[in-house]
Amino acid sequence: MSKTSSGQDDGLADIRAGVRALCAKFPGEYWRALDRERAYPSEFVAALTEAGYLAALIPEDYGGSGLPISAAAAILEEVHAAGGNGAACHAQMYIMGTILRHGSAAQKQDYLPKLASGELRLQAFGVTEPTSGTDTLSLRTTARKQGNHYIINGQKLWTSRAEHSDLMLLLARTTPREQAKKRTDGLSLFLVDMRLAQGTSMTITPVRTMMNHSTTQIFFDDLRVPAENLIGEEGQGFRYVLSGMNAERILIAAECVGDAKWFIDKATAYAKERVLFDRPIGQNQGVQFPIARAYAQMRAAELMVREAARRYEASGDVGPEANMAKLIAADASWFAADMCVQTHGGFGFAEEYDIERKFRETRLYQVAPISTNLILSYLAEHVLGLPRSY
Ligand SMILES: Cc1cc2nc3c(=O)[nH]c(=O)nc-3n(C[C@H](O)[C@H](O)[C@H](O)COP(=O)(O)OP(=O)(O)OC[C@H]3O[C@@H](n4cnc5c(N)ncnc54)[C@H](O)[C@@H]3O)c2cc1C
Repeated sequence: MSKTSSGQDDGLADIRAGVRALCAKFPGEYWRALDRERAYPSEFVAALTEAGYLAALIPEDYGGSGLPISAAAAILEEVHAAGGNGAACHAQMYIMGTILRHGSAAQKQDYLPKLASGELRLQAFGVTEPTSGTDTLSLRTTARKQGNHYIINGQKLWTSRAEHSDLMLLLARTTPREQAKKRTDGLSLFLVDMRLAQGTSMTITPVRTMMNHSTTQIFFDDLRVPAENLIGEEGQGFRYVLSGMNAERILIAAECVGDAKWFIDKATAYAKERVLFDRPIGQNQGVQFPIARAYAQMRAAELMVREAARRYEASGDVGPEANMAKLIAADASWFAADMCVQTHGGFGFAEEYDIERKFRETRLYQVAPISTNLILSYLAEHVLGLPRSY
């Protein structure tokens, strides 16, 4: 980590150094070539898996490292600070938590050790649909019980990494909305083994996006899922998904902090070496100030991520902090991205500098996995007590 962007020591120096050493084997050229082809970084994901980093949060009893969320956040932050993109594999870190918290003893025993060893990949999370979007409770995919199976019909959109995963965690409606006792009842979570279904009762189509993200849309046509693959209780799936969202937000926020560090390092180095009018451009306050502001914002975001992780580890009661970490970190990375392009002038647009790639990649976090507006309305309603807006 460079002097310009490093935060305070968080006691995770060894993990950070290990991830940095791994990422050094996957330089800008690697990510650039994949970006051009919209190809999946299989070698990078395999290296992270082999080094045990993707199993950071899996308890030791199931073959993982049993590390706290601050360690997982440090891993993903370092991937992004090195110019890489954890979006290729970050989901397994937090989706796995749903099995851990709500799965049966048999499900944990069957799946977690195989996820830890890399024998199985759980990278796909099917929640969003074309017509429901942020309004998850309106989703239309149904799961109908028939004997020892559930029959799934419907469509998901933006199911990322589905083509590079063996399993998918799928949210579907088991009780019609009008018959559910509570607004949040009636959705259920299933662990779908995609290896058995693809091409028959499940069709996956890639969706090309502005950055390399391996996202897809999926159609389910009478997909049969064994009843034993239901996670927890039928009808409680929405609650289980919500309980995993804080971890997701903290980890994505850490990626944004990593992105911001990368942009600040790049801009600082370039501002020192680019000479115009007989002096480095970084001698001009008009160039210095946006870099300094990006640094201050990054440090504030870093503190918020660490506070969210600390509270998550202490009590798990972390909704406001996890949301604020995601909000502030996504804003910090987006500001830093824009600043970095501006500092580089025309070169900021040149593919070989990687800036335009990282710029496109970090833009996503204003929208996914939760959009900025939805975080603001959460804070307004649940922290400030303002009236519910939707
Ligand atoms: C590249 C990519 C990868 C993704 N990966 C996954 C994945 O793996 N699994 C998955 O399930 N989903 C995934 N998503 C979906 C993502 O979580 C959604 O895009 C996101 O939650 C927003 O939903 P939406 O796109 O339908 O936007 P909409 O819900 O249609 O919202 C559109 C806009 O309106 C605003 N808005 C909506 N309602 C309100 C309101 N009440 N008040 C104020 N503003 C509002 C939103 O903030 C947003 O800016 C991915 C999306 C992308 C783009």
